[in-house]
Amino acid sequence: MRADYLVVGAGVAGLTYAIKVATAFPERRVVVLNKCAELMSNTRMAQGGIAVVTDTQTDSFQKHVNDTLKAGDGLCDEQVVRTIIGEGPERVQEVIDWGVRFDAQNGKLLLGREGGHVENRVVHKGDQTGLELAEVLLRKVQGLPNVHFVSGHMAYDLVMADGVCIGARVIDSDGNDYSVLSSVTVLATGGSGQVYGFTTNPSIATGDGLAMAHQAGVNISNMEFIQFHPTALYHPKMTEPFLISEAIRGAGARLLNTAGEYFMKSYDEQADLAPRDVVSRAVFNEMQKTQSDHVLLDCSWIDPNELSSHFPTISQKCAALGLAIQTDNIPVRPSAHYCCGGIDTDLDGNTNISRLYAIGECANTGLHGANRLASNSLLEALVMAHRCFLATEHIAVVDTTDESMRLPSLHNAGVDVRALRKNLGELMDTHVGIIRTELGLKHALQEIKRMSSVLGAVSASDGTGFMELRNLLIVAELIVTQSLNRKKNVGGFYRSDLE
Ligand SMILES: Cc1cc2nc3c(=O)[nH]c(=O)nc-3n(C[C@H](O)[C@H](O)[C@H](O)COP(=O)(O)OP(=O)(O)OC[C@H]3O[C@@H](n4cnc5c(N)ncnc54)[C@H](O)[C@@H]3O)c2cc1C
Repeated sequence: MRADYLVVGAGVAGLTYAIKVATAFPERRVVVLNKCAELMSNTRMAQGGIAVVTDTQTDSFQKHVNDTLKAGDGLCDEQVVRTIIGEGPERVQEVIDWGVRFDAQNGKLLLGREGGHVENRVVHKGDQTGLELAEVLLRKVQGLPNVHFVSGHMAYDLVMADGVCIGARVIDSDGNDYSVLSSVTVLATGGSGQVYGFTTNPSIATGDGLAMAHQAGVNISNMEFIQFHPTALYHPKMTEPFLISEAIRGAGARLLNTAGEYFMKSYDEQADLAPRDVVSRAVFNEMQKTQSDHVLLDCSWIDPNELSSHFPTISQKCAALGLAIQTDNIPVRPSAHYCCGGIDTDLDGNTNISRLYAIGECANTGLHGANRLASNSLLEALVMAHRCFLATEHIAVVDTTDESMRLPSLHNAGVDVRALRKNLGELMDTHVGIIRTELGLKHALQEIKRMSSVLGAVSASDGTGFMELRNLLIVAELIVTQSLNRKKNVGGFYRSDLE
């Protein structure tokens, strides 16, 4: 298959980019890959909203910049922060023009507050902001005749020629293996939360883009900065991860330990709205103190009308588990949520490999530094998709040739992918979680290497399960080695044996 633009990923970053290039160049062919048959992405799960300065009477770019730099704890790139925040309002207005309906009253956007923000600035659609955004973007992409949207096809390796990226190798759900050759390849594969056992990320989040890029020699950094969300729903009847948005604490909900004690005031002056790493560590401490595997979220402080109107999805999800959120405390625990690091890019999405770009959660632009400020990632994805579009619009179409090959399956028997994946999740939860030690990290590294050797080489004919496990092991090793290299606690990174 040939393309002018190959977009790997159909979340907010990939879809926005695809809409822009396909609209600007109706004569060019845009291929968008979506890994599974169903539409699943971190974008669709996003509840809180998009942090953006729209109310310039009380808020300002400078305040949003300050909050972002504070969360990033000295490791953000300030120029990147200023650019992304400064360009945010235009990008949010653009998706409104495309049909996204954020909550508003009398023509004015309603703004939520989340941890680490000094002002209300999060535009949202109830607690389904990501779904609204994804649906509108998808409808728009599907209306563009030059976009070839391919579901159930997974990219697994980059195709390189003389040091230049010329596309990707892809497997479909029937095990067919082929190349998509393209003048421009954009990785927009999202997060890697599935490397942990407890995560808020859906099953697609296996760090594929990171692994593919790493295999091709692309620079990847800041992987030690995994953000743990303090309040993922924790219930024995759950089958899929589910997040209880921080916006609910913004509206007044409070954390209690299982002894019924309110504890956040004793950890931070911002109490329940302290930055996520502070709240996650506090929750982790309280779980150890009370010897419990969760804490509780008390929503009885919130006006019941606001609870049902602003948080319908959370209300329904809890109701399905027999919890009435107005009166019952919600059991929650910290879970891996967001990968602050990733594929190093500049402000146009360029990687260190020619014609290869990365945008969205898989990229490391320098916006988040050592910790992401809540709701800054949808903003980053929208701005970076636009900037990457501008950077790639003049790329000349190159003629590429397909060096197609098909390798036999290496794993007809013997390797239990499910068991290895479960073991990896448990290993990462135990030794590479919120609080780490050198000893634990070294043990994790040894185990990851052992698992990689059990898995051995993987070929496309082994199928997507094997490829995802290969990718998860690569990502796990990056997180662990970069954690071992970091010698000082900063932002979301915490080792109990360091200062
Ligand atoms: C529960 C939850 C709540 C969140 N809430 C917020 C919030 O309120 N505000 C905020 O700013 N951020 C939030 N985030 C983070 C934010 O949603 C993500 O960072 C953002 O949506 C990432 O967008 P993306 O386009 O980079 O990736 P995604 O939306 O994850 O999309 C990735 C796409 O890549 C595809 N893909 C992956 N690998 C391959 C492959 N190998 N081949 C082909 N396709 C592939 C997937 O199928 C998917 O289509 C939340 C995240 C979660 C999990």
